[in-house]
Amino acid sequence: MQEYQRPAAAPGQLRLHLNENTAGCSPRVIEAIAALTPEDVAFYPDYDAVYEEAAAALGVAQDSLLLVNGLDEGILMAAVLAMRERPPEGRAEAIVIQPAFDMYAISAEACGVAPVHVPPRPDFTFPLDATLAAVTRRTRVVYITSPNNPTGVRVSNAAIGEVARALPPSAIVFVDEAYHDFCGDTFAGELASARNVVVGRTFAKAHGLAALRVGALIGQPATLAPFRAVTPPYSLNVCAAAGLRAALADRAQLDGYVSEVRASRAVVYEFARHRGLEYWESGANFVLVRVGPLAAPLVRHLREQNILIRDKSGDPGCDGCIRITTGLVAHTERAVRAMEAFLASRTD
Ligand SMILES: *Cc1c(COP(=O)(O)O)cnc(C)c1O
Repeated sequence: MQEYQRPAAAPGQLRLHLNENTAGCSPRVIEAIAALTPEDVAFYPDYDAVYEEAAAALGVAQDSLLLVNGLDEGILMAAVLAMRERPPEGRAEAIVIQPAFDMYAISAEACGVAPVHVPPRPDFTFPLDATLAAVTRRTRVVYITSPNNPTGVRVSNAAIGEVARALPPSAIVFVDEAYHDFCGDTFAGELASARNVVVGRTFAKAHGLAALRVGALIGQPATLAPFRAVTPPYSLNVCAAAGLRAALADRAQLDGYVSEVRASRAVVYEFARHRGLEYWESGANFVLVRVGPLAAPLVRHLREQNILIRDKSGDPGCDGCIRITTGLVAHTERAVRAMEAFLASRTD
C-alpha cells in the first residue's frame, strides 16, 4: 500500500516545496494560543464560537459546514464513505484526475477503494470527456482539485457540474479548493443545486495554519451528514480552534499575503519567459515550470544552497517539471536568482 512520503527539510532552509505560507501565520494566532487557560486545555473543546465565525467568514450556514483536522482528514472521510457503499460486484472506485495531490489515491487505497486514474491533457486543462468516460456504477467519489496541485490550472464550475450530474446515486464529487484564497474561484455558490458535491478548504495554505491542522468541508446539510457521522467529534483541537478564530479575524494579513503571492507568481512567469521555458498560469501559491532534463540537477543545486523546490518530473504529464511555491516576493526572487545562475552556467 502506498504511504505518504514526508519531503525532507532542515531548519534554516527556504521551504518552497510544500506550498506553505512562507510569511508565517498572523501573530494574533500565537497570542490566541498563548491566552488559552489550563482549563481550556483540560476540557474537551467547545466549538460554538469557532463554527459561528468560520461559517460567517466562509459565507455559509453553520449546518453547511464541517470543520476537520486539516483537509487531509476530509479527503480521508470521503474515502471512508466511499468504502461503505459497496457495489454489488468489484471494488468501490475513486476517480483521481492526474496529475493529482497524493492523498486522494493514498486515502482511497487505505480504505480498500480502487483509485481510477484519468490521464492529463498536455495543457493540463480539465479532461472532462475522459473523466465522464471513467465513471462506472462502482464510482463512489471523484476528487477534483481547483486550482489543481501541482499545475495551478483551474477547473470551471460548468465542468464540475457535468461530472456531478453523471454520477451514480451514492457517489459524490469532492472539490478540493485548498488554494481557493489565491484566486477566488469556488464551487460553493453552486451547492444549492448540487446535492452530491462537497467543497473542501484548508487554512493551511493562505492562512498559514499548516501545523495546527484545520480544514473545512462545505455542502448541503444532508450531504455533510454522513461526513459528520464518520468524523471524530473532537477532531479539531483547542489550539486549532483558537488559532482559526484569530486567523479569520486578521483579514489584512490574508489580503497582504495573497497580493505577495500574486506578485511572486509574476516573478516566476517572467523568469520562465526569459529562459524560454514552458509554464502554466497558476491560480494558486505555486507555479509549475518545465525546465526539461535539468529539472533534477536544478532541484539538487538549489537544495545545496538551502532552497527547497519540488521536482515533479515523476508526475503524469509533468516530465521535466519543477514546482516552486510563490510566497513572499523576497523568497521567490532569491530562488529565481539561484535558478537563473544555475541554468546560465549549464546552457550559455
Ligand atoms: C495542501 C493540500 C491539502 C492539505 O491540506 P491540510 O489542511 O494541510 O490537510 C489538501 N489538498 C490539496 C490539493 C493540497 O495541496
